[in-house]
Amino acid sequence: MRIPFFSVANGGLATSIARRSLEASARRIRGSPTRSPPGPGSESTVPIRSGRPRGLDFESVGSVGAPKRPPSPAPTSGSGAPEAHPCSRKEVAAVPSQQQERSASTADAEVDVVVLGTGAAGLTAALGAAVHGASVAVFEKAATVGGTSAVSGGIAWIPAHDRCADGPLSVADALSYLHAQSLDSMDDELVEVFVRTGAAMVDFVEAHSGVRFEIADGFPDYKPELPGGRPGGGRSLSPVAFDLARLGVWRDRITAFPADWSNVGFDAETRARLHATVADESADLCVAGTALVAGLLAGVLDAGVIPRTGARATELIAEDGAVTGVRIVTAAGESTIRARSGVVLATGGFEWDPTLIRSFLRGPMHGAVSPPNNTGDGLRMAMAHGADLGTMSEAWWVPIVRIPGDTIEGKPRSRSVRLERTRPRSIMVNRAGRRFVNEASEYNSMAGAFHYLDPKGGYVNDPGWIVFDAVHLRRYGFLGIAPGDPVPEWFCESADLAELGKKTGIDPDGLAATVSAWNRHVAAEVDPDFGRGSSAYDGWWGDERAATVAGRTLGPIDTAPYYAVPVTVGAMGTKGGPRTDRDGRVRHVSGTVIPGLFAAGNAMAGVTGRAYGGAGGTIGPGMVWGFRAGYAAATGKSVEI
Ligand SMILES: Cc1cc2nc3c(=O)[nH]c(=O)nc-3n(C[C@H](O)[C@H](O)[C@H](O)COP(=O)(O)OP(=O)(O)OC[C@H]3O[C@@H](n4cnc5c(N)ncnc54)[C@H](O)[C@@H]3O)c2cc1C
Repeated sequence: MRIPFFSVANGGLATSIARRSLEASARRIRGSPTRSPPGPGSESTVPIRSGRPRGLDFESVGSVGAPKRPPSPAPTSGSGAPEAHPCSRKEVAAVPSQQQERSASTADAEVDVVVLGTGAAGLTAALGAAVHGASVAVFEKAATVGGTSAVSGGIAWIPAHDRCADGPLSVADALSYLHAQSLDSMDDELVEVFVRTGAAMVDFVEAHSGVRFEIADGFPDYKPELPGGRPGGGRSLSPVAFDLARLGVWRDRITAFPADWSNVGFDAETRARLHATVADESADLCVAGTALVAGLLAGVLDAGVIPRTGARATELIAEDGAVTGVRIVTAAGESTIRARSGVVLATGGFEWDPTLIRSFLRGPMHGAVSPPNNTGDGLRMAMAHGADLGTMSEAWWVPIVRIPGDTIEGKPRSRSVRLERTRPRSIMVNRAGRRFVNEASEYNSMAGAFHYLDPKGGYVNDPGWIVFDAVHLRRYGFLGIAPGDPVPEWFCESADLAELGKKTGIDPDGLAATVSAWNRHVAAEVDPDFGRGSSAYDGWWGDERAATVAGRTLGPIDTAPYYAVPVTVGAMGTKGGPRTDRDGRVRHVSGTVIPGLFAAGNAMAGVTGRAYGGAGGTIGPGMVWGFRAGYAAATGKSVEI
């Protein structure tokens, strides 16, 4: 990818970033929860129950080939006194100290269910298994829990439920809607299982964890005008703010992006539109994905399950074709954990593994916006045992901007662009200066336009450019650059469009013709070329002050200076992995299932294929399969729907 005009040395930008670091750290907002989660013993609405919640303490499980050690000391506060863990029914001794963590991860142990990964899928699987009577061990490769889920919007798309004031959302509508956009890429049986299980999963999670959902009011489905679509929203459920103080020592052990600017740190405007804001400012509230993970973690800890961080699963152990355990590597060494009932792969996708990306994805994928731990470990472990694979060419695509010198954990960082391409007075063009997509449409299917393969010219739309004018920058800012901030060196700036074309390599005549036609059309509030502004979704991330949907996203590009920033295609995660049955059991290439092996979330073959129903379209199915797999692994039964 060609990215000119960038310089890492930029004092203005650095200052701006530093200032926004403080602002964005407000992702952890002080305030009190809008709804108090029920305490221990509160009424449960869980649809399925069997057995008592039973968690795993490594010190109490029968160890395999290792002598049982006495319990390690509880963590202490600065005063030396044991620190209370407010969300746990168990004594504080259940919360691990560094010493406990080291010794537990080196000891071989045996449990009913092992869960790998602590994103929304993994934590839901752990909760599902523990609540239904299994002893559970959870291993997380990163130093903190939560994965991509923790840095996400935390929204779950649950297409059929009865929480809307205007009546129940039907299974039939949800299925018609998903079919209308899937291009025949879905697993019909499993999609129906997803749609029918969603509401039960939400009830279960709310009954057994600190997570509370509310409808993200008005958030339209992503293709709301299709049959069964919801222009007025109702299917996207947002986690209510969660008070981190309830997590005790775990409050600082949830994955967070380095606090800085841009929509991957979720600015205040984005939070407000995700319904992730709080009115009261007196406690230690977190919102969005942090609230989802924190709430799930509270439930998992409450069930006595202590995730082990810095613990990477490297290999599945099998006996007679059945998976019976897993090899875990930590800084302290290697250990083997035996799983009596099953291992759940919830290790996310392979978006950070260049070899897997090149081997499987259908077109270019230039950068992931997730934390850099999802390297396809679960996929490789499953392949080694003959797993059948599905949805391997697909990702949760998103347009990205990459700023040279911008890194995360030493790797190049990508930032998704959403507000910037939706608000008035900006368009995206290719090298010929032509628009190639409705810039305000949902990010996932937009990848199709970047992946357009011209027989002569190759990927002619990739990379493209976002072109915007001085009014856009003055009014809205751009990707963390606030109105009035110095213009960073990674913008290409020019007094006229012809010069902008020369500087960027965009065909100047093509660009001039495109902008002139654009300005003519938007004066009449239409986009005859790509229909921008014609869908209810197009206005969602636009300028809220405008009276019409079209007005929220259409506006002329007519005021110098003009700016251009390269835009390309990336992903929030990948969708491919081992195929599963309705309970997350991994299928073998021979058509049978691999006994003892389960998968959930982005680690499994996504059931919705190319479809992306609405906000929450990845976490919704991920949590449903976490729930189903956890229950099946614990009980040997299937969640009835
Ligand atoms: C900025 C942003 C906003 C988003 N907003 C939304 C949204 O609002 N709604 C939505 O539906 N989707 C959203 N997404 C996408 C969504 O976050 C992910 O698709 C989803 O969270 C994936 O969940 P998961 O549990 O499958 O994987 P993850 O949350 O990525 O968790 C996988 C975990 O497995 C761990 N792991 C990996 N390998 C190993 C190993 N070998 N051993 C042990 N552990 C391992 C990883 O470290 C990680 O913690 C967003 C994504 C981003 C980046």
